[in-house]
Amino acid sequence: METTASPSRPTFDGRAFIDGQRVGAREGQLFDCISPVDGSLLTQVARCGPADVDAAVAAARVAFDDRRWRGMPPAKRKRILIRFADLLVEHGDELALTETLDMGKPVKYARAVDVNSAANCLRWFGEAIDKVYDEIAPTADTALALITREPIGVVGVIVPWNYPMIMAAWKIAPALAAGNSVILKPSEKSPLTALRMAELALDAGIPPGVLNVLPGFGPEAGSPLAVHMDVDCIAFTGSTRVGKQIHVMAGQSNLKRAWTELGGKSPNIVFADCPNLNRAVEAAVSGIFFNQGQSCNAPSRLFVEASIKDKFLEAALKLVPAYAPANPLDPGTVMGALVDSVQMNTVLRYIKSGRAEGARLLAGGEQVLAETGGFYVQPTIFDGVQEEMTIAREEIFGPVLSILSFTDTADVVRQANASIYGLQAGVWTSDLNKAHGVARALRAGTVHVNQYDEDDITVPFGGYKQSGIGRDKSLHAIDKYTETKTTWIRIDSPV
Ligand code: NAD
Repeated sequence: METTASPSRPTFDGRAFIDGQRVGAREGQLFDCISPVDGSLLTQVARCGPADVDAAVAAARVAFDDRRWRGMPPAKRKRILIRFADLLVEHGDELALTETLDMGKPVKYARAVDVNSAANCLRWFGEAIDKVYDEIAPTADTALALITREPIGVVGVIVPWNYPMIMAAWKIAPALAAGNSVILKPSEKSPLTALRMAELALDAGIPPGVLNVLPGFGPEAGSPLAVHMDVDCIAFTGSTRVGKQIHVMAGQSNLKRAWTELGGKSPNIVFADCPNLNRAVEAAVSGIFFNQGQSCNAPSRLFVEASIKDKFLEAALKLVPAYAPANPLDPGTVMGALVDSVQMNTVLRYIKSGRAEGARLLAGGEQVLAETGGFYVQPTIFDGVQEEMTIAREEIFGPVLSILSFTDTADVVRQANASIYGLQAGVWTSDLNKAHGVARALRAGTVHVNQYDEDDITVPFGGYKQSGIGRDKSLHAIDKYTETKTTWIRIDSPV
């Protein structure tokens, strides 16, 4: 495995992006951006703080108030957003390489999934925005009541590091399409593609001040955004712990609208009458190991009916070697590096706790490729997991699958729902009644039946319970970034 910076490694500009310009942090502070691929320093990045937040909010406010973006006809905003999407694709190789170096995912997925999904999201909301009509209410004929949508104003967006471009696009695409000004704070663990996206947005024709990007740490740059009195909406994706603070900050400041997409511990239930066991095995394994297990909707709790468990495990274990971690820059790699040493050590601690609490380690469990300087953990499977174990309850956010077995349908539904989270769930059965009945009983924002990998920009994404409030994707997302206004007009009819 190549471990050092290659001569072809690009250079990065880590400065913030405010009012259409690259600028350093006002206090002049910087932080190191380390590659999880090999632990090398990629660049130094502006460590934004409250003064930078003030500057970005002021620029965003001016851009909103002078209507340079929201005043454009929707058809024009559409063309610009589609151009923005096209530019992401045109710069796809560069963006994919940046994403891989910055957060460790295999470059083939960064290119095929992250770049393309982010571009598709921008294009889809761009295309949608000149097809969304307002309403006239069915009132008495002495009046006309118009129900119109208006952009909210200045929208703060805070995102995590697991899919940096996609998580940003899910929020900035509907917010921009609706005519808002946006301030995006990427994760301090993966700030580089967001900064590049802002440049491409400007190139596409999004006016200065409409999309600003502030790299930095949560308490220093995220929190000032969430408490800012001139930010009208905060859209957050990240952990449930911080998501709760976001709602508090919104409530204690100006009651800005707050939307949160948070953690998950998704159950995946395979009944003995599963119509295609191989497909169930593949979906269970790829679902937990894709993106090194750092997916909020990963099916991390696998419930297998006891009568098919041995067969299931045998098939699952055969797939594990294909996920051996390797250099994410190699186009053949399917499992790359975890985002940093902190995340790697968190995952290793969970593996230790699984062993200590009596789960049976069937595969993996170790850090590997330490000699590279990067942060790699083997794909790991535990059998014999009990619902009260830590690894069955807490979100690990790493390549660790917990397998539980069951014999009783009502009890497995109870166990599946016995979580603070409710993001997604899976059900595998040939019985139509069981499929519908269990899908209805599961408290999750999305239920997959006889598959776990369908995904489309047309469907809402978000969770029940402590997996968050609100939905990304689909036309429903536009509701988050618009106010609804009623305008009554008196009609004294002359006839
Ligand atoms: P995190 O909560 O630690 O950080 C998320 C973002 O919040 C980062 O930009 C961080 O800098 C910022 N932040 C941290 N503290 C803050 C504070 N006090 N005030 C304001 N901002 C603050 O989460 P993470 O580790 O980056 O991401 C992993 C989590 O994200 C997991 O729980 C995962 O399930 C969740 N996630 C959810 C979805 C979804 O759609 N539901 C999607 C992806 C990730």
